[in-house]
Amino acid sequence: MEKILDRIVKKNKIKTKFGNVANYIPGLDKAGKEDLGICLLDMDGNRYVHGDYNKKFTIQSVSKPIALMLAMLDNGVDYVFSKVGTEPTGDAFNSMIRLETAIIKKPYNPMINAGAIAVSSMIKGKDKEEKFKRLLDFFKMVTENDTLEYNEEIYSGENRTGNKNRAMAYFMKDQGVIESSVEDSLDVYFKQCSIEVTTVDLAMVGMFLARNGRLSTGEKIISDYQAKAVKSLMMTCGMYDGSGEFALKVGIPSKSGVGGGIMSVLPNKMGIGIYGPALDKKGNSIGGDGILEDLSKELDLSIF
Ligand code: GLU
Repeated sequence: MEKILDRIVKKNKIKTKFGNVANYIPGLDKAGKEDLGICLLDMDGNRYVHGDYNKKFTIQSVSKPIALMLAMLDNGVDYVFSKVGTEPTGDAFNSMIRLETAIIKKPYNPMINAGAIAVSSMIKGKDKEEKFKRLLDFFKMVTENDTLEYNEEIYSGENRTGNKNRAMAYFMKDQGVIESSVEDSLDVYFKQCSIEVTTVDLAMVGMFLARNGRLSTGEKIISDYQAKAVKSLMMTCGMYDGSGEFALKVGIPSKSGVGGGIMSVLPNKMGIGIYGPALDKKGNSIGGDGILEDLSKELDLSIF
């Protein structure tokens, strides 16, 4: 496995030249464009790491499936999906067009920004501080990493410049999708996106889902149905508007973020975390996408 990873990472590092580091959130542009790393964990307790696997980066959209798990625990699956749909859009992650034009008066799915902000608005707590603390504690539990914290610079940059997210949130308040305070919901969302992780943390989340919502101790945290909901939404909507092609070429439920992270789940087999901040046009890690495609082909990992 070490040899395979070495070869595949080297090959895909070349692709990073053709991508771009996200710069629409102040601070994200400081990432090293050619960085690329992976952590792969399997059910037998093996851990394989390569490249920049231990560099910290902000989790961004990879936080969305994790927040969804806590929102389902807090409110039940039916309530969550009464407010957020389960259909892919084929639009960009930050698109707002369907909020007004869709027949369903709710965001299409929890993996796009609008849906994720609605999900964050459902996290329980007496104020925004308690809501975020509960969410961060949940992140710490599923990554089995007590040291997780959010990056203050990225959070405040996103809070300052997140006008489009703010516009979508106020629109959803008007539609009755967001029931709690809009600004508190945005604060929780911006902070959750700014949590710093490594590929190991993402691979741990992948393993948690691969075990159908169990920690490494065997403790069951979310139901089988909740785990299935998260994995199926990752498969259909997790790679932005590239999800269809990714399903065909890779076939592994995955969620990417504009910080360059990808978290992948091979049910009952593996959890994979990848970091590669050079992004393709759709916002997916260009090197990470290539690594997953090569790994899937070489190890026959597609679930289809
Ligand atoms: N915090 C980012 C935003 O709201 C997340 C985007 C992403 O990773 O897709 O734009």
